[in-house]
Amino acid sequence: MTQAVDVKQEAAAILDRLGVERDAWTGGEMASSSPVTGEEIARLKVTSDTSAAIEAAHAAFLEWRLVPAPRRGELVRLLGEELRAAKADLGRLVSLEAGKITSEGLGEVQEMIDICDFAVGLSRQLYGLTIATERPGHRMMETWHPLGVVGIISAFNFPVAVWSWNAALALVCGNSIVWKPSEKTPLTALASQAILERAIARFGEAPKGLSTLLIGDRAVGEALVDHPKVALVSATGSTRMGREVGPRLAKRFARAILELGGNNGGIVCPSADLDMTLRAVAFGAMGTAGQRCTTLRRLFVHVDVYDQLVPRLKKAYESVSVGNPLETSALVGPLIDKAAFDGMQKALEAARAAGGVVTGGERVREAGKDEAFYVRPALVEMPEQAGPVLEETFAPILYVMRYSDFDEALRLHNAVAAGLSSSIFTLNMQEAERFLAADGSDCGIANVNIGTSGAEIGGAFGGEKETGGGRESGSDAWKAYMRRATNTVNYSKALPLAQGVSFDI
Ligand code: NAD
Repeated sequence: MTQAVDVKQEAAAILDRLGVERDAWTGGEMASSSPVTGEEIARLKVTSDTSAAIEAAHAAFLEWRLVPAPRRGELVRLLGEELRAAKADLGRLVSLEAGKITSEGLGEVQEMIDICDFAVGLSRQLYGLTIATERPGHRMMETWHPLGVVGIISAFNFPVAVWSWNAALALVCGNSIVWKPSEKTPLTALASQAILERAIARFGEAPKGLSTLLIGDRAVGEALVDHPKVALVSATGSTRMGREVGPRLAKRFARAILELGGNNGGIVCPSADLDMTLRAVAFGAMGTAGQRCTTLRRLFVHVDVYDQLVPRLKKAYESVSVGNPLETSALVGPLIDKAAFDGMQKALEAARAAGGVVTGGERVREAGKDEAFYVRPALVEMPEQAGPVLEETFAPILYVMRYSDFDEALRLHNAVAAGLSSSIFTLNMQEAERFLAADGSDCGIANVNIGTSGAEIGGAFGGEKETGGGRESGSDAWKAYMRRATNTVNYSKALPLAQGVSFDI
């Protein structure tokens, strides 16, 4: 592995080019490191007055809600334009700060552009229904109104795309936004905010405080969650985080979109196209160094094809290029930090103790970079679904198990606490349809002949059970960002009451 660039210098140059003030990322109390080398690359100031920022966002909401939705869409169109212009720089910064390989860093920015395009169209399609009423001379309809301040809490592994899913929809829906990014990836957040501010300057008539960034750790997140003027919090991160955030929001009857951990499974059936399955499994399980919420973590392989598929998979695990994500040859970049590495080793130990046979999983060291944590992805052949297989370990570990009965494979697939993404690999229509049916996969995302990860923005994204139940991005996910009002208008000269009730005075 070579170290071709000075990570700190390059991050600084990108932040300068994207118009982020140096003051925002130098001389502060919060250190930010790059997983590429493990070195500190910035020192940020923690937001001290979260309440003032949220009050300003609320004042901005009161104005923004009155701007016609298609006009609000124009701001998001400009954001999309600015993101197109900044794609190379922001994508590179994602790689420097989150350790994603180059094509995934760029892909993440493309996803931001895609959701902006989607939201621009949506700004002319915030449709309500007209509903048949039982009363003569009456009309009943529903209207969608802006909701309020939308708080966004994001995780390190999609440092900018998750924000854009929420921000683009929230803005066209007439809300203001307050973002608390992961403390592990604050620089990409500063850059995204600067890009949005450029779009706001070009737009010319957006209220001050429409979009705000709160820098800090979970204490800052808690302040956002607890503030009475935040109407909705969309929180992406671990199930542990959701368990804390969910009840706090419920206590004050605020809305929540919870996008939490996944323990995603796949079933490989006897008829599967094994060449395609191999590629889909490899990307799903090893891509982003196993640090996607949709990463494939459990694979059930039919006994008839196990010995054809699994040895080939093991070869792919042994040969995949692990290394500097800034170099195009690498397919697997670093883990985010030491804690992630320790968590992975602990899970592998537990797997061995439960009878698992491990291929890979060892640290890939680079001289002089003791604080960077590169690992060879691990494939673990397990005798059964037990121990660490039941939990999400946020690292590249794929547990592989044999099955012989389809119903049993489906039962085991669903027998974990999380319910985010799932896949079946089969050319048998009955199996494919069964997997997608009411008694099939219990996840929010169920795929046929593609992997568990790599969703497009057009569909609603999210999962069930301990994944939190929230939906973001496409389809009608926008409805969570608006207030629905049911309106009944009486244009008659009488006052008939519903259900035939009489009340004559
Ligand atoms: P994390 O839970 O450690 O942190 C996520 C964010 O929550 C951070 O910004 C953090 O500061 C904040 N936070 C933590 N505790 C909080 C609290 N009590 N109150 C308010 N804010 C709090 O997660 P992470 O390590 O950054 O990300 C990895 C996890 O995120 C994995 O479990 C992964 O599956 C999940 N994830 C889920 C999705 C999804 O859409 N379902 C997407 C990406 C990541």
